[in-house]
Amino acid sequence: MEAFPQRLRALLDERHATGLYRQCLTLESAQGPLVRLDGRDYLNFCSNDYLGLAAHPRIVASLREAATTWGVGSGASHLVCGHSAPHRELEEALAEFTGRPRALLFSSGYAANTGVLQALLKPGDTVLQDRLNHASLLDGGLHSGARFRRFAHNDCDALARRLAQAEGPTLVAVDGVFSMDGDSAPLEELARLCSEQEAWLMVDDAHGFGVLGANGAGSVAAAGLNETQVPILMATLGKALGTSGAFIAGSELLIEALIQSTRNYIYTTAMPPAIAAASVTALAVLREEAWRRDHLGDLITLFRAGAKALGLPLMASTSAIQPLLVGDAGQAMLLSQRLREQGLLISAIRPPTVAAGTSRLRITLSAAHDSAQVERLLATLGDLWPHA
Ligand SMILES: *Cc1c(COP(=O)(O)O)cnc(C)c1O
Repeated sequence: MEAFPQRLRALLDERHATGLYRQCLTLESAQGPLVRLDGRDYLNFCSNDYLGLAAHPRIVASLREAATTWGVGSGASHLVCGHSAPHRELEEALAEFTGRPRALLFSSGYAANTGVLQALLKPGDTVLQDRLNHASLLDGGLHSGARFRRFAHNDCDALARRLAQAEGPTLVAVDGVFSMDGDSAPLEELARLCSEQEAWLMVDDAHGFGVLGANGAGSVAAAGLNETQVPILMATLGKALGTSGAFIAGSELLIEALIQSTRNYIYTTAMPPAIAAASVTALAVLREEAWRRDHLGDLITLFRAGAKALGLPLMASTSAIQPLLVGDAGQAMLLSQRLREQGLLISAIRPPTVAAGTSRLRITLSAAHDSAQVERLLATLGDLWPHA
């Protein structure tokens, strides 16, 4: 059987030849504004730890304490005997925080998105998705059996046309904040269109949850949309919240039905209870340390003003995700490498994560940064950028 090895070698050869070969970095430190790599400290501008909670002392202490009481592994899936008091407490806290009747935990955002779409959708339904949605939403829609259509990014007219042609029960799914562009979905307009056409709206708020909205409850709260307007709200715990896992929030009916039918919920081990306990603590820190959101907002303003003055190719984002558009994948890699030599860690995002010709440096800011670090980022970009 040479077929599989041959295929695998061809894949690797192709990735090398097109400059799209990918590799993991191995960090030698915790997440933070500085991370250690090959014995050297780098300023980190590529994590999704937007509020600097991934290594927050109170959250770390909570994890440690919970492990003493609850152990490490959950031991089973939720429906067998893996669901413990910390899971329940976290689900209740998330429901309250998002203003939804119920919330359901998943071990990852990828599992939550693919799981809910496959559980809800049937052949004969239609699912409409923004072209730039996260891969987990796209994969869930593609494998759901429903008619799957994409619409142009943030284009409500394009969506309205798709909705007019849609057959059967229809679901519209979007990212609240787009992961590689950093811009936001026009949620109020999308909710209006969906309600006119009696379609359901699902929002993946992986990058808005914890950061946007008056108390950090996310994009949907910031847009003032209730559970009727956004029946399916999904968010992850591994980004701004600094822990791990994800949840779906919605009605009693939705959550009860998902518990019965979502394969990614039923046939998988529950997240460690100590992670659930640490996530409850992270929600409390989110409420009590509102300065983190304010400080992040100040750093975003500082970065955008500085980058504009330098003539850098900013994108239309007001979020913590501030990509600089490069275009060519090789050029993006080269810039990332040069920045690395100067002690800055910024990843080049290339196809297939983004469309061909739109490779970029994905810069992310965090409340853990200080303004001097952002100034250093700007000065280095100014020195290195080809035409700046
Ligand atoms: C990160 C991300 C996910 C996946 O969440 P994980 O918990 O990392 O699996 C889903 N959707 C969006 C928009 C994301 O950015």
